Amino acid sequence: MRSCLAVWIVGCGLFLAGNAVAQEIAALAGLKQQAIQEIDKRQTFTQQMVDQIFSYSELGFQEVETSRYVTGILEKNGFTVARGIAGIPTAWVASYGSGKPVIAFVTDIDCIPRASQKPGVAYHSPIIEGAPGHGEGHNSGMAVQVTAAIVLKKLMEEHHITGGLRIFPGVAEELLGTKAFLVRAGYFKDVDIVLGAHVESEFSTAYSTGNGEWSGLVSVQYFFHGRAAHAAGAPWSGRSALDAVELMDVGWNFRREHLRLQQRSHYVIMNGGDQPNVVPSEAGVWYYFRELDYPHIKELYDLGNTMATAATMMTSTTADHRLVGSAWPPFFNKVIAETQQKNIEAVGMPMWSDADQQLAKALQKEIGEKVDGLKLKVEPLKEPVKDPKGGGSDDVGDISWNVPMTYLMYPANIPHLPGHSWANGVAMATPIAHKG
Ligand SMILES: [Zn+2]
Repeated sequence: MRSCLAVWIVGCGLFLAGNAVAQEIAALAGLKQQAIQEIDKRQTFTQQMVDQIFSYSELGFQEVETSRYVTGILEKNGFTVARGIAGIPTAWVASYGSGKPVIAFVTDIDCIPRASQKPGVAYHSPIIEGAPGHGEGHNSGMAVQVTAAIVLKKLMEEHHITGGLRIFPGVAEELLGTKAFLVRAGYFKDVDIVLGAHVESEFSTAYSTGNGEWSGLVSVQYFFHGRAAHAAGAPWSGRSALDAVELMDVGWNFRREHLRLQQRSHYVIMNGGDQPNVVPSEAGVWYYFRELDYPHIKELYDLGNTMATAATMMTSTTADHRLVGSAWPPFFNKVIAETQQKNIEAVGMPMWSDADQQLAKALQKEIGEKVDGLKLKVEPLKEPVKDPKGGGSDDVGDISWNVPMTYLMYPANIPHLPGHSWANGVAMATPIAHKG
């Protein structure tokens, strides 16, 4: 709960940065104190948001109920909401205030396929077998950001502070699907600073040089087209699109040995045909190509296209492809990160109960990881890594190259979890998430 505080205190600092008089510094300290009280008063409100969004568990581009619920709360609290922005049905922006500076809050809202999980149960037990679930913990981000924005708005009104607030959802973040479109549509043109918040098992922030421990990526779907035939009666008349998919994948996996160590690439077969006695006329495979910077990502993308073409030549099929997502490697601002770090240290870790620690240790044991429970100390400021090896991606990268931003990683989950899995959903509607 208190971790929200660190986010918005940075905002308050900016309001007053232009007038470095002692009086205003004292006023800032008073505002921070008031903010702590206001946030603590809203514990139940914040908790309910965490749990309510967990209950929706909507996949990327399908965040209909989540968006309806969050925008409803924001409207009730005096924000103006524009829906369906940048041509994305579940995207929206909530605004308050006028003048400068403009502070934007961003956080993701989508969930993970097949990650349905009963909260507080330390073994795999889906609410609905095979259903999506918050197996990353994106259900908690809006609780942090909306609480922060509502408290900040209250203080702005009370103390006659000018400036604008914006809140954006990370729609389809798992698909790297939307933030580039929001940037392109101009939604960040008049924004001065972006404060992102993301669930973690630790309390931390970081700055980067644009090719740090995160990767950028392109997400590409390849569709192969062949010719159907009776698979036993006249297989020579058929041309298998599935053969092309398999040959592309085999080619890519051989080539993997000769790619830079920093690359990460993975795929799923979206369509492998219909039934064995029909030569598959249609098949498709979906790749994520990740690398540290734009030129290397482009190289992987070009190579993927070459592999697809080569697969069509081997199988007498045809192919086309569709770019369905992309993300620049994040470039997180040093000044914001340093300021935010001080606030993280001032706020400190949540007070975990014995029951919280027990749940954390039980899950760590269940999945065969180190059993050391929840973290007790905040992390030191994370500086750019010297020898980046690549890792996950986030389309906030596209925002970060346009507006100074960083990510607050708040401690609402259990350490050593696999990520994108039912295990990451266990704590996400329990007191661990509520406090973090
Ligand atoms: Zn995420």
